Amino acid sequence: MPLTLFVAKESQAGEPRVAASPDTVKRLVKAGHTVTVEKGAGILSRIPDADFEGAGASIVTAAAGAGKADVVLKVRRPTSPELKKYKKGAAVIAVMDPYDAEKALGEMAKAGLSAFAMELMPRITRAQSMDVLSSQANLAGYQAVIEAAAAYDRAMPMMMTAAGTVPAAKVFVMGAGVAGLQAIATARRLGAVVTATDVRPAAKEQVASLGGKFIAVEDEEFKAAETAGGYAKEMSKEYQAKQAELVAEHIAKQDIVITTALIPGRPAPKLVSKKMLDAMKPGSVLVDLAVERGGNVEGAKANETVTTRNDVKVIGIANMPGQVAASASLLYAKNVLAFLETLVDGESGALNINRDDELVAATLLTHDGALVHPRFGGEAPAAADKGEKADG
Ligand code: NAD
Repeated sequence: MPLTLFVAKESQAGEPRVAASPDTVKRLVKAGHTVTVEKGAGILSRIPDADFEGAGASIVTAAAGAGKADVVLKVRRPTSPELKKYKKGAAVIAVMDPYDAEKALGEMAKAGLSAFAMELMPRITRAQSMDVLSSQANLAGYQAVIEAAAAYDRAMPMMMTAAGTVPAAKVFVMGAGVAGLQAIATARRLGAVVTATDVRPAAKEQVASLGGKFIAVEDEEFKAAETAGGYAKEMSKEYQAKQAELVAEHIAKQDIVITTALIPGRPAPKLVSKKMLDAMKPGSVLVDLAVERGGNVEGAKANETVTTRNDVKVIGIANMPGQVAASASLLYAKNVLAFLETLVDGESGALNINRDDELVAATLLTHDGALVHPRFGGEAPAAADKGEKADG
């Protein structure tokens, strides 16, 4: 039985993205599924209802569409009133932000939903097309530089004119993961002189390949700082002190600082102190991409630009991919479609949630009325099966 899908309009203020695009709807309809889209769901991503209709979807109200759907596609975790409308047993695919969210996870379990957290997708080759952290962080890194350039009251590139020379801006990128690397590339395209830092040694070569200069405390701890999954570890107090000393000296000479440092499941590391901000030149701009997770910059506030006493601007846009929603939604929609296709039985078109599949095991939070993800208090899936296999 092919599926009925519901593409919800996001209810959270400041969330302009949508989880489907005309392109993904067309592919779902072609595969025999019924796609319903909540009225106005794509407006803020520049996708009019008529474009979804043209791709084969029907436009519905939440009251009419949510309860009939086998699969709900969203950007953000559903709120309590939203999930009460969903059918028991429906799959919900979204960025679930499951850390410290026991109540919300409990509600989704109780509602009998199979809730999938896109951001927990393993970073393996097979799942590259489903990697929302990458697709969204890439745009966030780009947009952070655009925001910084707009707030910076000087030109970015060096300009040699008959009236004199404008020096190139000095941009420092802290955290050279997906967002940081795109920030480096974007700042370079705009002609800035770019330096970058990270705690993972693998970042060194990547920064250099984009024309940035890598600066970091490269001690023994640094050499072992990357986890098997490619993520950073939380660094020791000693390392943090050495890093702070290096940053303090460097940052005072910078015009623009983009911070992107994150550690999965932990608060963002504090990398720029008030004292460091005090040492910066008036007119300098910082963009803190980690602001939603506590921020890398002391005093950064979500969705505010804080101006310090010495006239340094700290920009804290929480939903940076949302600033480029029309691009971000297209990529997010593709990520979701690629994952959904792995959950659908090729023959019957029905939903087939195979908990032995590593993509499902990594992302499934709640299922059959229970919390199932071991990292968030659920029981390890199929522990008994694994034992049997090991024995056999
Ligand atoms: P992230 O968003 O978790 O963190 C951003 C960056 O901050 C990381 O590079 C991290 O090392 C850095 N950081 C953390 N603590 C820091 C500190 N105290 N000081 C300075 N920097 C700090 O990371 P991400 O962007 O998701 O990327 C993580 C890794 O995964 C990277 O190696 C990336 O290339 C890799 N990756 C792999 C795949 C894949 O194989 N499919 C896809 C995407 C990313």
